[in-house]
Amino acid sequence: MNPSESAQIGQDIYALIKTLYPICRSITGDGVRNTLSILQQQFPLNIREVASGTQVFDWVVPKEWNIRDAYIKNKRGERVVDFQQHNLHVVSYSLPVHKTLPLAEVKPHIYSLPQQPEWIPYKTTYYNENWGFCMAHNEFAELIDEEYEVCIDSTLADGSLTYGEWLIQGDTDEEVVLFSHLCHPSLCNDNLSGIAVVIFLAKYLQQRTNRYSYRVIFAPGTIGSITWLSENQNHLDRIKHGLVIALVGDRGAFTYKKSRRGDTEIDRVANHVLRAHSASASIVDFTPYGYDERQFCSPGINLPVGRLTRTPNGCYPEYHTSADDLDFVTPQSLAESLALCLQIIDVLEWNRRFLNTNPMCEPQLGKRGLYRNTGGANIEQREFALLWALNLSDGENSVLDIAERSGIAFDVIHAAACDLERCGLLKFLP
Ligand code: ZN
Repeated sequence: MNPSESAQIGQDIYALIKTLYPICRSITGDGVRNTLSILQQQFPLNIREVASGTQVFDWVVPKEWNIRDAYIKNKRGERVVDFQQHNLHVVSYSLPVHKTLPLAEVKPHIYSLPQQPEWIPYKTTYYNENWGFCMAHNEFAELIDEEYEVCIDSTLADGSLTYGEWLIQGDTDEEVVLFSHLCHPSLCNDNLSGIAVVIFLAKYLQQRTNRYSYRVIFAPGTIGSITWLSENQNHLDRIKHGLVIALVGDRGAFTYKKSRRGDTEIDRVANHVLRAHSASASIVDFTPYGYDERQFCSPGINLPVGRLTRTPNGCYPEYHTSADDLDFVTPQSLAESLALCLQIIDVLEWNRRFLNTNPMCEPQLGKRGLYRNTGGANIEQREFALLWALNLSDGENSVLDIAERSGIAFDVIHAAACDLERCGLLKFLP
């Protein structure tokens, strides 16, 4: 991507986030369906519905939740909390309620953030039947002691859990999973940035030839990945690598969280790419909390799936509040995240092993036009790369192994290996 393409794609990703921002998503319901149908305008997706009550490992697909309106009205009939103004105002999965209550009985159902008094918190009650509202603490503090009409016009009923999936077929059936959760309502970094970057990544991969097949999955957090893994448990051996992508629109540095195994190829590739990208990037060890990497890395599944974010969940004050809005994510960050994902994928695609066909002493590079007859500032590095690629291509080492041992960038080693392959000094190993 050149700078003007990158600027345009950043704007395009941002525009998709803006379209999806007003939709009230949850782990089930029409918000998820509407989101997936907007994504289908960008990229083909199969939409799957899994009925409420379906057993998925130790969990059960919950009832489907939908909401039309919610408010708290004061005695003058004014909405002091209004779902129509911001869909974070209602606790996700709230039961329907319509009654008039004194302030003392409404208060236990209201959540606010005294430390961040202007922001509305994001709260859910998926697995505990209850109801509640969220509001800015400043406004909460102004509620006077009187009776309030509280109304949540929602339904919680048998229905289904919805997710979207697509396989971009590659030269092999070996799969790379790209997973984004899609259950958060009006929050931009968590999680619209992940959804939008994965869609643009998928669009890009769809229009070129790839060695791996890429399976993109958009499903609600936790219950969605558990459902997908349960439905696909007999085919998981196809998955060779995977990335959970989330929180990639903020201005923070990249963070890669390793898979549970910690030393898989995706872990090594992401480490190499992030280190080369910026000194401020972090690589962190696996922990059994976070996003859907927890399910892909549960002990019985244990897939080589890592997680890419910028600032991780819980590590920025705007996290899970109304301040994670359209100003918190930037087109530049989104474009840079897309480019970084593509770099990780390109290293995976090109991380092959070669065999030196002329291993008895060094071959003569000059007579093959490979040595000291090209211009440019990096002649020396290129020659080192040729020598490293020849020396370590004994069938054991991959291009990434050679890049790491030599300290030379993956792309330079890969280009050298391709030149050597073209003149017959190396051959690809399957
Ligand atoms: Zn979240």
